[in-house]
Amino acid sequence: MMEIVQGTRGRSACPEKRKARRCWKRHGLRSTRSELMDTLQSTTIHKTYQERGYCSRAGYARIREVLRSCCWLYNRSLEQRKNTYLADGKGMSLYRQMKGLTQLRKEQQFWRDIGITVSRGVLVRVDRAFKAFFRRVKAGEKPGYPRFKPLKRYQCLELASVTAGMVKGNRIKVKGLPVIRIRPNRRMPDSSRLKALRIGMHGRILTVDLVYEEEQNILGSVDTAVGIDMGVNERMTFSDGETVSRRVIDRSRETSLQRAISTKKKGSNRRRKAVATFARERRRNTVRNRNECHRLTTAIVRKYQKIAVEKLAIKNMSRRGGSRKRGLNRSMMEQTWGLLFQQLRYKAEWAGRQFSAVDPRNTSKTCSHCAEVRKEKPAVYRIFECLRCGHTEDRDTNAAKNSKERGVGLPIPYNAGGNSPHSRRESTEKDMLVQLSI
Ligand SMILES: [Zn+2]
Repeated sequence: MMEIVQGTRGRSACPEKRKARRCWKRHGLRSTRSELMDTLQSTTIHKTYQERGYCSRAGYARIREVLRSCCWLYNRSLEQRKNTYLADGKGMSLYRQMKGLTQLRKEQQFWRDIGITVSRGVLVRVDRAFKAFFRRVKAGEKPGYPRFKPLKRYQCLELASVTAGMVKGNRIKVKGLPVIRIRPNRRMPDSSRLKALRIGMHGRILTVDLVYEEEQNILGSVDTAVGIDMGVNERMTFSDGETVSRRVIDRSRETSLQRAISTKKKGSNRRRKAVATFARERRRNTVRNRNECHRLTTAIVRKYQKIAVEKLAIKNMSRRGGSRKRGLNRSMMEQTWGLLFQQLRYKAEWAGRQFSAVDPRNTSKTCSHCAEVRKEKPAVYRIFECLRCGHTEDRDTNAAKNSKERGVGLPIPYNAGGNSPHSRRESTEKDMLVQLSI
């Protein structure tokens, strides 16, 4: 079907794998750092293969049944944590909840029939939600307390651990779940390298995410560098003057489908079908865009050795302005800068290319020729004109050149937010390295 997304992680030479922080305490700062340097040189990466899954009619029903129970377990575990905290002011550990699960499995046949990795995976998810919450509290962000999930939003089974035997050829077998067949149109890695497995049910579509560990595929180096400015008029502008035109979506079909839903009675079969058709249309548009982004970013990473992109806070940009700015907000969101950014970042890392996210402050106000910052608003919005040296250029190209200037000099690529197969939030060795180098 299509390839996605997850990032990468270095393999640590330290016996305490992946626990750079503890490492730091034990060995002191210097040795940790050298170990981390080794780490970066011999990296393996995690790659997720997302495939469409197929099973029997009874199989789909069974998956839905398991999802329903797991959703219940998720909410129950959440409640448990909340209540214990309210009762005696202490949180509940994952370990203690696992014990509770053992008890549950003793009492009920249903939970015994499901593989332990499936039900443990639920608890791991709860644990991760709390960890993310506390991390945000600590960082002084605005945290949202983990929420109860309605069945509608509980769409994914995540296994706590995997074994090589779960994938045999094109068949996936997990205890308590039906056999799921996949039809990959490319060679899959050897199942001994399987690191994580997720099974998702989105409407009527079954998806399987297989996370494998792979060797980094380093591209031969080239002597090219580029700065990229992401915008609304042009989707991307490169520092060498090239552009990718903005994404325009034909919403007519979506609108008419939405209208069709609104004319049907709530709770009726016809309405349910209309909703499903609409969802399919939306999904198609999403996939289409994602594929297009893949083509773009792959081409960029192949062409350039060093890539510098502005680090944009898209949320902050789109939040302000209210209805007055709704049109602009929408066309901003449609350009999916975040997706492009994310794909560029991990693909650059896979290919051993340098990616840097640069501080966007004043990139569009600074002269790329003499570095003068222009305070006043320009007479013509689209064109940058320097008051000191008279340099005149397209506004976006000028900004892209500034990004290049700022980004390409950096010794260490931007890697914050590296991933483990389960979580995007865990800090990694590479995060550490970036922190240490500051
Ligand atoms: Zn100038």
